[in-house]
Amino acid sequence: MNFELKQHFQIESARFLPNLPAEHPCSRMHGHSFKIILTLQSSLDSKLGWVMDYHEISEVMKPLLAQLDHRILNDVSGLENPTSELLAKWIFEKAQLKISILKSVTIMETPATECRYPV
Ligand SMILES: [Zn+2]
Repeated sequence: MNFELKQHFQIESARFLPNLPAEHPCSRMHGHSFKIILTLQSSLDSKLGWVMDYHEISEVMKPLLAQLDHRILNDVSGLENPTSELLAKWIFEKAQLKISILKSVTIMETPATECRYPV
């Protein structure tokens, strides 16, 4: 019997998308309050009765968020073209090294948009 955990994080970051034509607004430097949602899926730890300690998830995310929060994402190694898709992949690949039951990372660059990786 599997359970799903979600934990939300938020960063404020600047970016521009360098491969878009100059007339596209996202080609200019601008900022987002990115919401980052981690989704984990696993059976319960039979003794503790939970999937994973939320505090432990926060500890894994701390150094990753420090690289992204109040920064220009384009300056981060691997995020030279920081679309939400590539940001989700960047976070997933790093966080999954420490959270093997990580299922996906969702990025909301606005309240109306969601990008999930992997699907
Ligand atoms: Zn944008």
